[in-house]
Amino acid sequence: MSEKQKSQAELLSEKLLSSKKNAVLRMTDEQIAEADAFCEGYKEFLNTAKTEREAVIEAVKQAEAKGFEPFEKGKKYQPNDRFYYVNREKAVILGVMGSECISKGVRLSVAHIDSPRLDLKQNPLYEDKELCLFKTHYYGGIKKYQWPTVPLSLHGVIVRADGSKISVAIGEDDSDPVFCVTDILPHLADEQMRRPAAKLIKGEELNILIGSRPFKDDKASDKVKLAIMAVLNEKYGIVEDDFISAELEAVPQFKARDVGFDRSMVGSYGQDDRVCAYTALRAILDCESPKKTCLTILTDKEETGSDGNTGLNSSYLPYFIADLAKPFGFEGREVISASECLSADVNAAFDPTFSSPFEIRNSSQINYGVVATKFTGARGKSGTSDASAEFVGRIRKLFDDNGIIWQTGELGAVDAGGGGTVAQYVANLDFDVIDVGVPVLSMHAPFEITSKIDVFMAYRAFCVFFAD
Ligand code: MN
Ligand code: MN
Repeated sequence: MSEKQKSQAELLSEKLLSSKKNAVLRMTDEQIAEADAFCEGYKEFLNTAKTEREAVIEAVKQAEAKGFEPFEKGKKYQPNDRFYYVNREKAVILGVMGSECISKGVRLSVAHIDSPRLDLKQNPLYEDKELCLFKTHYYGGIKKYQWPTVPLSLHGVIVRADGSKISVAIGEDDSDPVFCVTDILPHLADEQMRRPAAKLIKGEELNILIGSRPFKDDKASDKVKLAIMAVLNEKYGIVEDDFISAELEAVPQFKARDVGFDRSMVGSYGQDDRVCAYTALRAILDCESPKKTCLTILTDKEETGSDGNTGLNSSYLPYFIADLAKPFGFEGREVISASECLSADVNAAFDPTFSSPFEIRNSSQINYGVVATKFTGARGKSGTSDASAEFVGRIRKLFDDNGIIWQTGELGAVDAGGGGTVAQYVANLDFDVIDVGVPVLSMHAPFEITSKIDVFMAYRAFCVFFAD
């Protein structure tokens, strides 16, 4: 239709009213193919890095291949120098030095690499009615009923009595065994089905089945447990008490897959927040000669509230900035107060099957691009950093000027629930910060869904933020 044929109302409406379209309608076929290709590497990352420790190992591996070196305290880094700093094997800071003075501030992207899962308790192993099981304590916010009858793999570390440490990953290889929480058959679920959904499966019912064959000796008691412990001792050289000094995490065993006949989506465990971890990692790896010093942090413990020395509500970030700034004669706080941060975390994508917790005008949607979330929190905006209009305006212009397809979103309708991200802890240090990430369907479920286009746009968003 030519401009002449448009009515005055049409022209005015184009000029004045918001008209966000599905990203597919705004991208060329080549751009969409580029997004799809980008997600091949993303799926590999999801399969390789199922826990925070594995994500750190993979990030360091990719960083070293791109010329990043271990951070040296006291070193006066030169423009385009690339470094990484690992915090207790569960969090990592990756940086590229800018050409501008560090006192002008840094550009920071923070994603988290922990995801909801079942942690083994410290005395996990027991036998009941000649079955051997592990006791667990769930980690992060889960709908407990989603976790039984899902094949699980086991990842983590065990520190033995002599102090030696072994890493464990069982269930990922096709020849490995897997593990499983059982559920009661529907025929006998009368009592269970009368429970409220939050207690359909109770925390102490999330017991993982790990064996069933007894040790062949009539004199021993707990013969299945003994037989399992004998297997573990032979394979890993551990005894039962070694579980006390272990961190073992049960996670869904299945691999990341394309979802949909059109293969437009990725389905996988742990996309909250490895989708932003991968995109922010790739952005820092691809960052070349930035003006501002750029940092990507992959942090731990977000799902439990960011407390603890590997979570962002601790001092490891300000300490690191102070170490980076000191050789230039600046205090860490001088750098931080001039800095900007994208808190790289996911948001809830509108789900047409469960529409009531959303307010459609303010929800993020699959395929509408990376989502910038001004605030999260609960009730009357409690427990959040509410990004200022000025900072939202700055990021909005940055994205628009650089062709980033993006949308705004909120974490559900008012009083529908809520949640938070690391944004508040970064903001409390005096950074300017806003949440920027990918919309997710079925968040915190064993199998979460994202759009390949949104994943790619998150990567592009972090890249333009670093390059600006
Ligand atoms: Mn998250
Ligand atoms: Mn989460």
